[in-house]
Amino acid sequence: MNDVLSTYEPAVGAQMVAQLRQLGKVLQGARVVHVNSTRYGGGVAEILHKLIPIKQALGLDTSWEVINGDAAFYECTKSFHNALQGDRIDIPPTLLEHFEATNRRNADELRATLEDADFVFIHDPQPAPLLALCPDRRGKWIWRCHIDLSHPYRRVWRYVRRWVRDYDASVFSLPEFSQELPHPQYLIPPSIDPLSDKNMDLTAREVTETRERFGLDPEIPLLVQVSRFDRFKDPLGVIAAHKLIDKVAPTQLVLAGGEATDDPEGALVLEEVMEAAAGNDRVHVLMLPPDAHRTINALQRAADIVIQKSIKEGFGLTVAEAMWKGKPVIGGDTGGIRLQVVDHYTGFLVNTPEGAALRARYLLHRRDLLHEMGERARRHIWENFLITRHVRDYLSLMIGLRMNNQERIEVRT
Ligand code: UDP
Repeated sequence: MNDVLSTYEPAVGAQMVAQLRQLGKVLQGARVVHVNSTRYGGGVAEILHKLIPIKQALGLDTSWEVINGDAAFYECTKSFHNALQGDRIDIPPTLLEHFEATNRRNADELRATLEDADFVFIHDPQPAPLLALCPDRRGKWIWRCHIDLSHPYRRVWRYVRRWVRDYDASVFSLPEFSQELPHPQYLIPPSIDPLSDKNMDLTAREVTETRERFGLDPEIPLLVQVSRFDRFKDPLGVIAAHKLIDKVAPTQLVLAGGEATDDPEGALVLEEVMEAAAGNDRVHVLMLPPDAHRTINALQRAADIVIQKSIKEGFGLTVAEAMWKGKPVIGGDTGGIRLQVVDHYTGFLVNTPEGAALRARYLLHRRDLLHEMGERARRHIWENFLITRHVRDYLSLMIGLRMNNQERIEVRT
């Protein structure tokens, strides 16, 4: 059963795996439930698909539940998402009512499982009311916030905070995202799985085939952004940057995205993107199925530079994915991208299409530097953002909570 873990040793080192086993022993048999609002699409689902099997391999009885909602529910939760990342959106009381009713319905389904668990991780605001709806809970409940909460629209945060404040702890990706809450807050950045289809090594042949499949010219430099079609990812800004670069020397751009079942705005943003890209055959807008992990992997590898020009970003797994493949990233100077892109060292942080274009042109001219930055980028991810570090942080958090945050906790070998 520990075999899953051994497979990570070559990538992350034996010491890391030994630490996980040691911490896992303390939590043997603990019942752990993760709850979020979609099984496919977006970073949270991506992480849970990888995190759960590792926790299971460590002997924790771990499961993953997904709450269900209708279109109105996702409209409401997408508004939370946008407002918590700073948009001034007032949500009508009827929609909030519907949000609460949907959570009540989900609580009826999940109550037995959740109340019985030793640890419950609730991801993001969508399922946050479940805590209040499980009055006989016996375990520790943790609210795990993945979004950029640095400048939330206060009215909406006040509403969400009502559901969040009674948790035993919350987890944020960056210190800037933490809020005034009456419980301990932990900083745990997300991670990528080096062994997953999305990140594993691929043969040069597979990369070439993927290039051919999408009609990309191997002789023309390639920029890639992988993202849901979401305004915070600024796909229009990326197209504007590409125009500036392409004017000077022909350059291809791939914007690869797909749908998340809990994101109702995607179709609208995709339409705007198609319109902006129309008539330019060096811009390729790809709608990929949710399981296109190897395709995305190959596109990131085929890229000369990866772009993630977000305006707000909780973390940005796509940044880590690209850096792991030795690509310098030109990223929006915001949120979790700042944690990964060390400006002028592993990539560049930018605020405008002009800035992105300037940096891309510079790197395409200076291939030596491009490769050097790519090497450092890979190292930076290896040191900080692989899934084993993430699991270690979660295990430490659970042990800390179980021991009621005693100052000194002994973990015996
Ligand atoms: N992703 C994907 N298909 C797509 C778009 C994105 O598989 O069409 C993946 C992407 O590779 C990354 C995750 O979804 O692993 C997105 O996570 P990120 O943190 O970058 O952004 P989020 O969507 O959570 O805001």
